[in-house]
Amino acid sequence: MVFIRTGRGGRASQQREVNKTIILNAFLRCRNISRTEIAKRFNLSKSTVTRLVSNLISEGMIVEIEPYNIKKIGRKAILLGLNPNYKSVLAIKVGVTHTLMAKIDFAMNIKNIKSFFTPKNPQDFLDKVEEYTREIFPEGLKNTHAVGVGIPGIVDNTFKNVVVAPNLNWKNLPLGDMISERFKKVFSVDIPVKMDNEANMAVVAEGMLGSKIEFNDVNIVYIFIGEGVGTGLILEGKLYRGKANTAGEFGHMTVGRDGIKCKCGNLGCWERYASLGSDLAKRAGFDLENEKASILDEKALKLYVDELSVGVINIVNGLNPDVIILGGPLIKSDTKEIWEIIRKELKKIIEEKSITSDAGKVRIELTSFLEYPAELVGAGIWAFWDIFEGPVLSTV
Ligand SMILES: [Zn+2]
Repeated sequence: MVFIRTGRGGRASQQREVNKTIILNAFLRCRNISRTEIAKRFNLSKSTVTRLVSNLISEGMIVEIEPYNIKKIGRKAILLGLNPNYKSVLAIKVGVTHTLMAKIDFAMNIKNIKSFFTPKNPQDFLDKVEEYTREIFPEGLKNTHAVGVGIPGIVDNTFKNVVVAPNLNWKNLPLGDMISERFKKVFSVDIPVKMDNEANMAVVAEGMLGSKIEFNDVNIVYIFIGEGVGTGLILEGKLYRGKANTAGEFGHMTVGRDGIKCKCGNLGCWERYASLGSDLAKRAGFDLENEKASILDEKALKLYVDELSVGVINIVNGLNPDVIILGGPLIKSDTKEIWEIIRKELKKIIEEKSITSDAGKVRIELTSFLEYPAELVGAGIWAFWDIFEGPVLSTV
């Protein structure tokens, strides 16, 4: 099992804090679990678990899920879980076409989800955020821990500024402070706003809460396919950010030296061929504007997967991951048939082109989050991250 670290490292200062982090992460990952099971699975002594759990209960983070069953089921252990009422966060997934906002509670339940067309003017965007926040939190924001914002672009190391979001035409935009200031003014609250690249958020959601991760997976690649193509990377159990927080921009790897011009300014970037806005993807049946997909032309779909595979095989040969997870608006429950074709074609090409047959055994999976996108769930986890990661592994 991976305990994903989203920050820049850090050292365990106290074993006690490490154990607290392990226990909170265990609850996040396993949902409802007994004290005995935590001790067994995470190799902690029973007394340590009992002590830490009772501290977490008194802090209000953990609750007993079935306390009234004790008599009925005799000696069976009591299940514990994260307390949904402890705190909540506002999660925002900024999309190139649509933006999603929701309230996410401490047990990771998504509530009051809202969607709107993304205004490209930042002031108009802030107005929308304010308007929908009022609807999502009619009770006010007093019990709101933080705001997590997933950006389709690059965010700087403070997690407050958008360096560039090419498809929205946003550059050097202090969006984090703009949201904080607006909230201070209109809601009279001082709430931290944490932004990150949306693919980073998605890979954390898949790694922490997704159903496609196996116990020993430590190298996980999430590929977001939409108007652009972005990837989130968990390498050796840690979110990989790179020096300037730009790692994972595989969408802009050059796949054709003299290829199509990209919004980033280069020629022949992979996303110009693999995005759902490409001519081939449109012919195949992807309708980005309405976030719908159906098979219009199966031959075009296979040709599109061939373009997609160029980048995927580079990722397989370059990173040798355990699993590659695909997400984005192409992934809807009514597109199962499309997904099966994509997976089959990709598997075939990977088997042919991977550097060794072992490397070619990488699993290709569909995102676990079909109802709500992984990016939104990840924005919620990110907003809570200082609690789950604790002081041990700081986020900046
Ligand atoms: Zn590019």
